[in-house]
Amino acid sequence: MNVVTRVDDLRGLCREAREARLRVGLVPTMGALHAGHRSLLRAARGASDLVVLTVFVNPLQFGPDEDFSAYPRDLEADAEVAASEGVDVVFAPPVDEMYPGGSRTTVHVAGLTDVLCGASRPTHFDGVTTVLTKLFSIVGPSTAYFGRKDFQQLAVVRRLVADLDLPVEVVGCPLVRDHDGLALSSRNAYLSEARRESARAIPESLRAAAAAVEGGERSATAVEAEVRRVLARAPELRPEYVAVVDAAELRPVETLDGSTAVLVAVRVGSTRLIDNVVLDVTPGGSEADLGIVVPAEESESPCAAR
Ligand code: AMP
Repeated sequence: MNVVTRVDDLRGLCREAREARLRVGLVPTMGALHAGHRSLLRAARGASDLVVLTVFVNPLQFGPDEDFSAYPRDLEADAEVAASEGVDVVFAPPVDEMYPGGSRTTVHVAGLTDVLCGASRPTHFDGVTTVLTKLFSIVGPSTAYFGRKDFQQLAVVRRLVADLDLPVEVVGCPLVRDHDGLALSSRNAYLSEARRESARAIPESLRAAAAAVEGGERSATAVEAEVRRVLARAPELRPEYVAVVDAAELRPVETLDGSTAVLVAVRVGSTRLIDNVVLDVTPGGSEADLGIVVPAEESESPCAAR
């Protein structure tokens, strides 16, 4: 496995691979790798000849009062995970390698980025789309892999690629949950055991929403109320938004019909967590996609044994 920190080195390795007609798969991350990231690496490994993992805590996607400095960083541990998943190249550049002399060019996807997480993090998605455009340009991947945990991000990336005719296939991978139901996130490391316990109400609220819809509920207001009712049981949780939207355009719906997503962002102390369930609603019934549960041996939860 190659660990590179220079853009030119990465570009060279990827160019060589493409010239040899190899399929290059890209998994962009901010590191602090967990089983959610592993599942993306496995998807990439299964379908690519050269797997490129990027580990870059991108300052552009953090707001001024956000956790850029505190964000967990452990390149050594990440390299071990990468090696165990058969990654070929890890790209872990310093900030001034990605943005020498700052950055004056921003890639902005309009509309989709103003709502939901974009409402409270107004520059976040511009940071994401700008760094991804750079990574796509450096790597030239056939395919890039993203988790459905970051549901809005995936919609934004799909739109970026479509609008700019970028020659990369975007693959969305299942949301991976820990044994206690909490969606895996590098930010879970910020949670005390007590707060983690409270945070379990987040997936519970989504399961309750799915159960209501499976029981025939089709009113978005009623589904939202059900989510809020379960979240309210854990007094430490402060919902930032609870939204029932169409899964492609992320527009609020009144009645659930077709592919509908229930998206939440919740603050637990100063930690902000997001989660979602996708409901496929047809006249005949509904099917909920809450993601998958991590294998026991890969769990990082202190509660996994329960
Ligand atoms: P991050 O390192 O948080 O920027 O995430 C890098 C990639 O991993 C993104 O495509 C995320 O959607 C994905 N990811 C993070 N957590 C999970 C999870 N629990 N399940 C699936 N994918 C995830």
